[in-house]
Amino acid sequence: MTVDRLQELLVVEDNPGDARLVREMLKASGLRCELRVAGRLTAALELLEERPADLVLLDLSLPDSHGVETLDALQARFPDVPVVVLTGFEDETTALEALKSGAQDYLVKGRFDANLLARSVRYSIGRWSAGAETKRSLSLLTATLESSADGTLAVDRAGRIVTYNQKFLKMWNIPESVAESRQDGQIQKFVLNQLKDPVRYLQKVEELYAQEDLESYDILEFKDGRVFERYSIPERLDGKAVGRVWSFRDVTERKHVVDEMRLAKKAADAANRAKSEFVATISHELRTPLNTLIGMADLLWETSLTPEQREYVDFFRRSGDILLKLVSDILDLSKIEAGRLELERIDFDVETLIEEVTGFFRVHAREKGIEFSTEVAPDVPTKLAGDPNRLRQVLVNLISNALKFTAKGRIAVRIDRDREAPNPGGLLFTVTDTGLGIPQVKLATIFESFSQADPSISRRYGGTGLGLAISKRIVQLMGGRIWAESEVGVGSTFRFTVGFDVAAARGNGHASEVYASGRRILIIDPSEEDRDSLVAAIGQAGTIVVTEDGLEGLAEVERANAAQAPYDVVFVDARERTLGGFEVVDRLRSSLGTAGRAIFTVSPNHHGDDLSRAAALGIAGTLRKPYDPDLVRTMLTRAAGAGRDPVEGDGAAERPLRILLAEDSADSRALVGFYLRNTPHHLDLADNGESALGKFTSEKYDLVLMDMQMPVLDGYHATQAIRRWETTHDVPLTPIVALSAYGLREDIQKILSAGCTGYLNKPIKKDRLLEAIQRYTRTEPA
Ligand code: ADP
Repeated sequence: MTVDRLQELLVVEDNPGDARLVREMLKASGLRCELRVAGRLTAALELLEERPADLVLLDLSLPDSHGVETLDALQARFPDVPVVVLTGFEDETTALEALKSGAQDYLVKGRFDANLLARSVRYSIGRWSAGAETKRSLSLLTATLESSADGTLAVDRAGRIVTYNQKFLKMWNIPESVAESRQDGQIQKFVLNQLKDPVRYLQKVEELYAQEDLESYDILEFKDGRVFERYSIPERLDGKAVGRVWSFRDVTERKHVVDEMRLAKKAADAANRAKSEFVATISHELRTPLNTLIGMADLLWETSLTPEQREYVDFFRRSGDILLKLVSDILDLSKIEAGRLELERIDFDVETLIEEVTGFFRVHAREKGIEFSTEVAPDVPTKLAGDPNRLRQVLVNLISNALKFTAKGRIAVRIDRDREAPNPGGLLFTVTDTGLGIPQVKLATIFESFSQADPSISRRYGGTGLGLAISKRIVQLMGGRIWAESEVGVGSTFRFTVGFDVAAARGNGHASEVYASGRRILIIDPSEEDRDSLVAAIGQAGTIVVTEDGLEGLAEVERANAAQAPYDVVFVDARERTLGGFEVVDRLRSSLGTAGRAIFTVSPNHHGDDLSRAAALGIAGTLRKPYDPDLVRTMLTRAAGAGRDPVEGDGAAERPLRILLAEDSADSRALVGFYLRNTPHHLDLADNGESALGKFTSEKYDLVLMDMQMPVLDGYHATQAIRRWETTHDVPLTPIVALSAYGLREDIQKILSAGCTGYLNKPIKKDRLLEAIQRYTRTEPA
């Protein structure tokens, strides 16, 4: 305790006898102290000036000062020193006054003994230091309150002001005099006058007083443009609510910055969108004539040509494809960069997807004499949910690169579980080749836009330098990463991870199964690999018999006919070895009458001459390798329909249709015209949405092909107008197929919500167009 240390005392007493007495009493009491004595006030002040004391024992009647004034004079100079007053018996009233003036105690001379004196000294010093401690804490609290960045106001439960800081007054421009009055009504008036919405302010205040425990935060807007954050927190003392503390923070500056940032972001987004629109428009403009060129070259390819002419046409087709790929890549990248790529979530089978993708490349690999293998690790869950189309895009990029940069050896595609992924749907894809390889220094940059490891080599192989950049963005969007390892001259390995969800088991098989279900299908093809990929595209549900030999195939068809279980569809490959595919088809027609169920399969660059010859035999159609599962499916339905009931089948393929084409590009119109030339369909043309609408409302059509970007009235509005017209005239909806240059999901959404039945991405290939026409005009058997 403080009193136990050595105390410095000053006795101010003009009577030496009294002073001695005090000294002796203190000594007798055992109080550890050091004593100084002054006989006058001036002397006392001087002594204190020299060295402070822990306590002054003060006689009020001194030669140079008398009464309470003596105390006042001393305290004025030394407010930090506690004083015990010594007084004569007759003067107790003065002593009481002295207490009021701040003396700690008073002792009446002749009435106290050593113990009383020591106790008074101890208590006075103890009380004084406790009081000083409290004062210190209080001023610390006040200083803290004043140093806060917030304006703070504390009120009691009735809303009366308890305390506030200067910041609060300054923020609200409240004069000190108003605040000191502590009249909350006065302050309220000041506050409300400044606010944009005083009513809401009051509502909130009332709400909070009604609910003592509620904390709240809101924003206050001032008439002069300032913005405050307001917090209100209940104040509790010993667990009981005693009022509330309101804090106000001026966030005007911050709000300005945020607003400006928001504006800047909006402007940047708009600029980005504008750029993306610009690129989209440019590539649309580029793609339209390109599409026509490629389409025409394809048509030319299917006619009889001299070898020299065929070579030239082949140049057109290949250069056209490269150019088209470049334009599409730029379009893709610009859209990804503008943040416009949204991922889909679809249930899919990753094993089927890998089969489809690799089926496409197997044919090319074989032509180059490269071994091609795929493997899916046994613990990979195959039924997944995610975006299969974007996954396909990445795989196609990697595999086509592998194929492009590999002259001999092998390409291997693998899927494993990603051991580092938290859930079982996390997969690791690996594409390995034994090709040129990539120098170590280039490995990091090949994932950047327009970056090629060796431009001179890449030029030789073709390519845009965008494929990997796009792949990287897509993989990142899907929550994974992509990287490569490589050794020059040995080969490269590209890996990427993607986290899919494992789809709920629903026994959902390959889409084609539905179409093949219950049908008997025969495949005649000398290549085992091609047979396998066709079987994969068809799915497992139909009964599929395969043979490599044409004669054997014909015998099998005969046997099946005799057993009253004829084949619904026969796939015949053009390269059949014994007779030649053409001959097999011919015999199917003449001896078995089954040409209508035959589908001719050809390699990618098969000559057009054979195609027109085969078509003349009345076959169901021609399929080009590598197989597109959608097309396989359509062909299968068409051929099986014809086979099941040649006279009364669903007849969708053969039924002459009236088709309206709305398309502003004359070349594109001509191209579609050429595509449909050898079909029974009748084509009407419109060069903008308005004239399409005019034609539609005055004629009857089975199908509308609607370009989306057209002058006068675009495809979206024209479609909407057609749908409105149909509703008001109570006629059944005509299928409208959008011809769109864009493939993004939001565009597709826009197309479908305008009322289109389906869409066809440009460039439009003949196969795809015919398939779409058939799909959207198919009349379902009742
Ligand atoms: P490109 O269209 O040029 O192939 P990519 O972005 O797909 O564009 O690839 C960028 C570059 O990375 C290529 O030009 C090539 O130099 C290198 N590269 C990619 N894949 C391979 C590979 N499998 N083997 C060797 N080099 C490759």
